[in-house]
Amino acid sequence: MIRDMFEKNSSLSFEVFPPKKDDEFENCYKVLDSLATLNPDFISVTYGAGGSRSKKTVEIASYIKNNLKIDAMAHMTCVGSTQDDILSVAGALAEAGIDHVLALRGDKPALMSQEQFDKRIFDHATDLIHFLNKKTNLNISASCYPEKHPEAISMDSDIAFMKMKQDMGAKMFISQLFFDNADFYRFVERTQRAGITAPIVAGIMPITSAKQIGTTVSLSGSSVPKQLADIFAKYADDKDALRAAGIDYAINQILDLKKCGMGHIHIYCMNKPKMTEEICQAIN
Ligand code: FAD
Repeated sequence: MIRDMFEKNSSLSFEVFPPKKDDEFENCYKVLDSLATLNPDFISVTYGAGGSRSKKTVEIASYIKNNLKIDAMAHMTCVGSTQDDILSVAGALAEAGIDHVLALRGDKPALMSQEQFDKRIFDHATDLIHFLNKKTNLNISASCYPEKHPEAISMDSDIAFMKMKQDMGAKMFISQLFFDNADFYRFVERTQRAGITAPIVAGIMPITSAKQIGTTVSLSGSSVPKQLADIFAKYADDKDALRAAGIDYAINQILDLKKCGMGHIHIYCMNKPKMTEEICQAIN
């Protein structure tokens, strides 16, 4: 069970995304079969912006749980959802035997107008958690942001909402990706001072291509330290060397986290089993 992993002071989990097209499921299952051989404590499955593709999230989480016999955590966003939408996904998850969700607000989907966003039914992840607590038996975890959420007015307010999520029953927090461990250590210290005792899982994203910096990383709002920027500059014209250096950077981040007693590691593995395997071999 996911909750049992906190009896240990370390864990390893992966994040995958569901296939975009219906004919890509077989390939996604192969990716998952490979990831399963690395014995993760759980695998989490992302949820399309605004609830699009929620059926695919359920289907992939179900494969992880029922075919691979590995704990699955389904992400769930509420930004574009009605209460009925949420109940329908929760019902499908229950039917598939998935009992743990990462409850999120989500970002404004591209096709949603600002007016629709402002009038959304669930304002924040806390509203989703409140609703899920009332209507379902799901175990709930939530997100956190070592460099604060981009919309947060301050780190203190962001951490106060995190504490609210813990008080509402959030079992653990998975962090946004970060590249400077010092940010994570400072953040964990502040959460402890604020009374947060739920485990905080460090989200690590290995950067293996220049494209990733332009897309995922800029969307996350995470800062890129000079050491990592220098790697991109140095290997801009050498894809293989950039990949190797990016993997190496992630390995060093994880080893340092473990050395400092932060043993709960969540790899944003981008559905890349080979890369994930290389990292797992190096950190174990
Ligand atoms: P919230 O907790 O609602 O926070 C958003 C902002 O509002 C913050 O600034 C916070 O300080 C503030 N706030 C929080 N609660 C309250 C409150 N009660 N009242 C007033 N202000 C409040 N996106 C997807 O679309 N699909 C995914 O699968 C997905 N997975 C993710 C996994 C992880 C580990 C993380 C860190 C992020 C993920 N995201 C995903 C992105 C996420 O949806 C965005 O970062 C989104 O902008 C915020 O979601 P949240 O749940 O953190 O929001």
